[in-house]
Amino acid sequence: MNEAAHIWMDGALVPWAEARVHVLTHALHYGTAVLEGTRAYETAQGPAVFRLDDHLTRLHHSARIIGLPLRYTTDELRAATLKTVAANGHPACYIRHLAHRGYGEMGIAARSAPTVVSIATWEWAPLLEQGVRLMTSSWRRNDQAVVPTAAKATGPYLNSVLAKSEALDAGYDEAVLLNAAGYVSECTGANLFVVRDGRLATPPPSAGALDGITQDTVERLAADLGVPVARRDLLRSDLYTADEVFLCGTAAGIVHVDSVDNRALNGRGPVTAKLSDAYDDVVHGRDPRYRHWLTPLG
Ligand code: PMP
Repeated sequence: MNEAAHIWMDGALVPWAEARVHVLTHALHYGTAVLEGTRAYETAQGPAVFRLDDHLTRLHHSARIIGLPLRYTTDELRAATLKTVAANGHPACYIRHLAHRGYGEMGIAARSAPTVVSIATWEWAPLLEQGVRLMTSSWRRNDQAVVPTAAKATGPYLNSVLAKSEALDAGYDEAVLLNAAGYVSECTGANLFVVRDGRLATPPPSAGALDGITQDTVERLAADLGVPVARRDLLRSDLYTADEVFLCGTAAGIVHVDSVDNRALNGRGPVTAKLSDAYDDVVHGRDPRYRHWLTPLG
């Protein structure tokens, strides 16, 4: 782990090694936490955080959905995030916001246990190599009738952990999950797009997929580039017959898929390449149309 100097915890920067919790923390037992993964990129104006307010809004929505009181406003969390990135001196980094139900009561609902908010940052190399081999997981995606899939909450990530581990054990790089109805949902930590005849399609949140911020970015860039894009249900077989498939997420970026269930695809095809170049320009502040998505530290 690339340790940084400080972690922000409930209002103060504390040394990395001292950002600890009690073993009877409610969230450790019941998955009662919400999280965000955000990134700061190097730009000509120095480090800048990409779509920070959108991530903080989603954090608030996630907390509201699972009924976790979050006493910090977006303004407060934005200031705390910028302060943490600056204090740690990163040129670029990954940022993990976490709001968890803390120590104080062990009942299931534990309404009197406090919410603890933390912001950790570290320098992280890309999680997936370019060109991934996907397998369809034997695990189905969490169903929105069982847990609210719109909340980016820690408990439901056990589903991703199982699917990712199964894929790695079987010699693949990543898993794609189908929902209970058998439609494609998403990967373990990224959304998924297929390209067919120059058109893009990606599963909607109703398929159990996270409403991804990178997914939204890709849709907007596709519109700029004149590539038609739709959110619609996809069949497993749509993955096998696609011209191109790629994953997208904050940590992953845009990553092309080389094969799905051992059916070879074309790899980094022309549409994936155009979008991934455009994405690279946007996150590094080279596209003036999207500078408003970057929050500089200063
Ligand atoms: N789906 C899942 C399950 C994820 O964990 C992530 C990463 N947050 C995504 C999709 C992509 O979301 P985003 O583009 O907002 O990072």
